Amino acid sequence: MLEKLSSKDAIALEDKYGAHNYHPLPVVLSKGEGVFMWDAEGKRYYDFLSAYSAVNQGHCHPRIVSAMTEQAKTLTLTSRAFYNDMLGKYEKYACEYFGFDKMLPMNTGAEAVETAIKICRKWAYEKKGIAEHEAKIIVFENNFHGRTTTIISFSNDEGARKNFGPYTPGFVKVAYNDPKALEEALKTEKNVAGVLIEPIQGEAGVFRPDADFLAKVKGLCNDHGVLFIADEIQTGIARTGSLLAVCGDCSCQGHCEKQDTYQRPDMLILGKALSGGAYPVSAVLANNEIMEVIKPGQHGSTFGGNPVAAAVAMEALEVVKDENLAQNARELGDLFREKMNAYIENSNIVKLVRGKGLLNAIVIDDTEHSDTAWNICVALKENGLLAKPTHGNIIRFAPPLVMTKEQLLECVEIITSTLKKFEK
Ligand SMILES: *Cc1c(COP(=O)(O)O)cnc(C)c1O
Repeated sequence: MLEKLSSKDAIALEDKYGAHNYHPLPVVLSKGEGVFMWDAEGKRYYDFLSAYSAVNQGHCHPRIVSAMTEQAKTLTLTSRAFYNDMLGKYEKYACEYFGFDKMLPMNTGAEAVETAIKICRKWAYEKKGIAEHEAKIIVFENNFHGRTTTIISFSNDEGARKNFGPYTPGFVKVAYNDPKALEEALKTEKNVAGVLIEPIQGEAGVFRPDADFLAKVKGLCNDHGVLFIADEIQTGIARTGSLLAVCGDCSCQGHCEKQDTYQRPDMLILGKALSGGAYPVSAVLANNEIMEVIKPGQHGSTFGGNPVAAAVAMEALEVVKDENLAQNARELGDLFREKMNAYIENSNIVKLVRGKGLLNAIVIDDTEHSDTAWNICVALKENGLLAKPTHGNIIRFAPPLVMTKEQLLECVEIITSTLKKFEK
């Protein structure tokens, strides 16, 4: 079982025995360290995806790996039928870190989104007095919140939805970055309980809304007495140059409620980099008056809040502070967009670069269904840098946040010299 496979053989195995629910770039990775990954033949690549922003702290961060292996030797799983001596510590740590009263631990991002939906509905019936089964949650066009049957019910991605119905009712979709559309929905729809939003739409192609959009969403939620629910699974944990994207233009390493740019959510959903990519860890955070609607037996997960997850998440969050990852993401992100914009001035293949911190994307000047973006990613791979198209002609660039300035400049060189070959 432990013999080393060639890349070709590894791909053949996945192709034959694995469900074809992904279309990976043809590269087989067998090792990671910091901003780098190596393929089965030993070729080194810069990682410009970071497992969809799960690996913000860099691959195999020694402190996170050490926390994980130490805990794995001691106690891995108790279930929540009993207490364990790590979960309470982790909950206190995370609540103080993000500034909430309570946390509910889960494993994957989609599970945390499901959890937030359930809490929001229960809150609506028990605290807001909405009649049972009538609560609605407002979501946004082109959202991505995961893959469960309920979550895909309010997606407008055909691939994610088609032939997976019947769909879960209770969601109203409005245009993103359009406060008027949200205001209209809040006025006309009855029984709205909450608004679920990505502060920047990552999967949709790193779509960054206008600077005042989140403040307006939050203000409208307050005015209408509905919960403002932020899905920061991709944007959170320093990725966009602040601890959370809802922190706005603040690069302090903690949440700071004094900042007037901070649009504090009523519920915060985290996943991905909450574990530094070492382990599936997700969570919902909220204050007591919201979280207390959940009572014993009403929600749970066998693995949620297990001791390994607790140890890994605490260390992963500590690393974000100790290594100033938010600040680094902000500085390198500004530099990246500056360099890319300089290239784009004389380019007829790249239309624009957009993003915040180290969550960025370039839009290729071609039709949505052309394979130019894919071919560019294959060429980037040949040149030692791994990125993946999202939605046809958009390429997301999201390296681990532990990157240095020199490494980033080398990557800009790889990207621009590769793009030059595709100029028309
Ligand atoms: C990745 C992601 C999810 C889903 O997380 P999984 O761990 O893949 O279930 C949900 N919301 C956002 C914004 C994401 O980027």
